[in-house]
Amino acid sequence: MERPIRGSMYDVIIVGARISGSATALILAGRGYRVLLVDRITFPSPTSSSTNLIHPPGVLRLRRWGVLDRLKAHTIPEITHYSLQSGSVRLVAPLPAVEGVGYALSPPRISLDQALAEAAVEAGAELREGISVQELLRENGTVVGVSGVSKSSGKISEKATIVVGADGKNSRVAQLAGAEKYRDDPVLSKSSWTYWEGLEQEPLVRTYRKSRRHPFSWPTHDGLSIVGVAWPAETFPSGDPDQTDRLVIDAFADADPEFAERLLRARRGDRWLTGAVPNFLRTSHGPGWALVGDAGATRDPITASGITHALLGAELLADAITDGLSDRPMAEAMADYTARRDKLIGDHYDYTRDYAKVADHSPEERALIAAMSRSPRHGQDMIGLFATIVPPDQFYTRGNFRELFGHLGSGPDVPWKSRLVRWLIDGVPGRPAWASGTADRLIAAKIGPMGELLLRSPVPGASGTRPAPASTA
Ligand SMILES: Cc1cc2nc3c(=O)[nH]c(=O)nc-3n(C[C@H](O)[C@H](O)[C@H](O)COP(=O)(O)OP(=O)(O)OC[C@H]3O[C@@H](n4cnc5c(N)ncnc54)[C@H](O)[C@@H]3O)c2cc1C
Repeated sequence: MERPIRGSMYDVIIVGARISGSATALILAGRGYRVLLVDRITFPSPTSSSTNLIHPPGVLRLRRWGVLDRLKAHTIPEITHYSLQSGSVRLVAPLPAVEGVGYALSPPRISLDQALAEAAVEAGAELREGISVQELLRENGTVVGVSGVSKSSGKISEKATIVVGADGKNSRVAQLAGAEKYRDDPVLSKSSWTYWEGLEQEPLVRTYRKSRRHPFSWPTHDGLSIVGVAWPAETFPSGDPDQTDRLVIDAFADADPEFAERLLRARRGDRWLTGAVPNFLRTSHGPGWALVGDAGATRDPITASGITHALLGAELLADAITDGLSDRPMAEAMADYTARRDKLIGDHYDYTRDYAKVADHSPEERALIAAMSRSPRHGQDMIGLFATIVPPDQFYTRGNFRELFGHLGSGPDVPWKSRLVRWLIDGVPGRPAWASGTADRLIAAKIGPMGELLLRSPVPGASGTRPAPASTA
């Protein structure tokens, strides 16, 4: 594509050059726009505040942009299945494929961030490291550039048609632009996690829910595995760090004694890290500025969706900026971006927020998880929901859940409330629609914020079938 000629200033200045910033830069630079990408860090730069699971829609983008090819120095196993074990009930299902990518990856963050930045530079972006942006330049109320301090050359100031804040959850750009939070939830969970050596490498993300603890583990890179536990923030054991080994092993032993034995036969390969973030959505555009990645939307890491959504958000923003630099008013293109970004992540944000309470499942919820484990389609959709592939409003539908109750089984472990709902779904002679409506309301009352989605979904027709879920990718 031919580069548009726009004088000496940049088309886009992007503040923050990790996941969302470099991804936005590489797409726009690849389309021929003049992109300045700045970060206060110098690559390679570790980030100790993140694990690194990337769900299939994110992996697809990294593959498409040639970023995976840059990670070949590492052995990064493909993770094809996710599991959720709640008490004695276990759901294991394969990930739904997104355009042929049916696996997750967990590359080392330090290498991933550098690979993305290098890909942006190769696409034509100008990367300046060691620059801390401190102010936004404005003309008639519109942002027209940034000023800051460079480690090597003192004060800097640059202008662009649009300034993008890809500068993380404590975004300076958001603060300077006055971006309001319109969803604002506190820190809900807090985790301890580290890398484990010598653990058998299965292509599986393990998650558990027991005794208000959420143990998790998956293979990452070069023979290592992530091992950790999330607690509700208010019960996080913040005492002696030397106790963390015991607390984590105890949580696994409670949820899955066999896996705890495996942990004991292997060994911890790094120090324990602690992570917790608040949850919010920020207004993500205004005159001359936009936000992407964590700067605009931060959510609890319990669903490991921040990187994947940052990559998809970068794609949406780059498309909107392309429109705004072509023949569409920039303000209109940016409003469209925010609406599409919210559609992409809004319901998953609610799902994540609910999950991050680390509440134990009720017997009725466990009966539904058991039903999902008997219905391969429901099981795979549930895993796809967690992995940002199946949109929540396509999973939490009346039709889908009425059908799921057909897989409840008949054992004595099915709670009486679940049997009652199944009876209502199967219908009272002559009044099936009334009874099913009651069943829907009972189900909705049990599934937190997802209940609203279920009640908004269409009432199934006589066949009771539902359309196949559409991927967000
Ligand atoms: C404990 C924990 C575990 C997580 N695990 C996962 C996981 O397994 N999978 C997943 O998908 N997500 C995970 N996440 C979330 C993920 O880390 C974030 O969603 C992701 O890093 C967001 O990327 P970003 O590029 O938007 O922001 P960041 O990665 O925060 O990058 C922002 C960049 O902006 C730069 N910057 C900031 N201010 C300025 C300034 N004034 N001037 C210049 N530069 C500036 C910073 O130096 C930084 O390089 C986890 C988060 C936590 C806390």
